[in-house]
Amino acid sequence: MPGGDLLVRGGTLVVPEGTFEADVLIEDGTIVMIGRGLSPAGHEVLDARGMLVLPGVVDEHVHMREPGLEYKDDFTHGTMAAAAGGVTTVIEMPNTLPPVDDADKLRRKADLLSGRAYVDFALLGVLHDENLDELEGMLGAGAVGFKAFLGPTTGNIPPPGDGSIYEALEKSSRLGFTVAFHGENWDLVRMFTERVRSEGKVDPLAHLRSRPPVCEEEAAQRIALYARRTGGRALIVHVAAAEAINVVRRARSDGVEVYAETCPHYLLLSADDYERYGALMKVNPPVRERDHQRELWRAVNDGTIQTLGSDHAPHSREEKSGDIMSAAAGVPAVQTFLPLMLDAALKGKMPITKIPELMARNPARLFGLYPKKGSLSVGSDGDLAIVDPKAEWTVKAEDLYAKHPMTPFDGLRVRGKVVYTILRGVVVAESGRVAISEPRGEWVIGRT
Ligand SMILES: [Zn+2]
Repeated sequence: MPGGDLLVRGGTLVVPEGTFEADVLIEDGTIVMIGRGLSPAGHEVLDARGMLVLPGVVDEHVHMREPGLEYKDDFTHGTMAAAAGGVTTVIEMPNTLPPVDDADKLRRKADLLSGRAYVDFALLGVLHDENLDELEGMLGAGAVGFKAFLGPTTGNIPPPGDGSIYEALEKSSRLGFTVAFHGENWDLVRMFTERVRSEGKVDPLAHLRSRPPVCEEEAAQRIALYARRTGGRALIVHVAAAEAINVVRRARSDGVEVYAETCPHYLLLSADDYERYGALMKVNPPVRERDHQRELWRAVNDGTIQTLGSDHAPHSREEKSGDIMSAAAGVPAVQTFLPLMLDAALKGKMPITKIPELMARNPARLFGLYPKKGSLSVGSDGDLAIVDPKAEWTVKAEDLYAKHPMTPFDGLRVRGKVVYTILRGVVVAESGRVAISEPRGEWVIGRT
């Protein structure tokens, strides 16, 4: 799809290094000039005075459910939600049906999703015990990295054993890709879950007790150890426990290539909220007590947490109802991702520059998409999120594009509104609504 021409004039650019006023000129979908007083030369002009101009968000962690789980949600709804929320690239997880575990399945998934994408997308392959020989083939076919589910997940992919994890990280060291880990020890989760089940408890805190911090801490230690010994690059996604953060902080200070992601729900919700939201806020690993939340914020601000992801994980309403132990884990999150973090930044929880750093540049780097994606610079794709920092509005579940719109943030008053989402020079969403009639997102292939 041809890119657009656009001059974004008078905004305040927000990049990891700081903020400054400048115009951005996009030609044929690519940023060709950044500077003051640029002349439109016939291009369409977007007045961004009083607004913040951020790189479009690269959401490294979405489960759009297609193919195979369309009753939960699909790629059309998911990428419309992304566009509405200022996300211009999504990195789609491989636990769809069938799981993406070889080059052929990866290509077929890319073919299927192309033509349904309202934003650009990249694909991860899955890692399990039977497909170590497929990793090179998947990279060749366009995978931007791999995901290993160490704990139980949607799609019931068996977790890889230690040997497979080690070998995958050896390959990572040699070939330069990132392995993303769902970092919970399956055996421990199973034991604690059985213990809670045998007590017959299904109160709102039961889920939290079924996956205590040691499940994350053990997985983080193992991943950090193997990354240390192999020189491979590991990203532990959705870290919720302070103990796991401490493991990552120590390993990183020794120069180990281990990265940590957390998600808005861990930063903004705590165990105090289970009484009110119950299964609606059930995620894996669970949202923990306030002490953990405090440590996560500290880790965001001291650089231990290097990325944020939404962990967009929709389910049907039936799956999210009932008691917390039987309900599905995960909630639609891609549309609220940037708004929630903007609100947090504008209220002083972290510098606003953390948004382009943790939600654009770093994810793009880890998955070989930088500087095409995740960067506000000449030569990068003209992907922008333009934000009014003074606007206040209320998050409403009914405004979500998800097939089954629900969010624990329903009714939350937030500051900072995504006014325009620009994908390769074209306004794809305006004021929270998709502004194009046909999808124009493309599959992007990484450079590892
Ligand atoms: Zn996930």
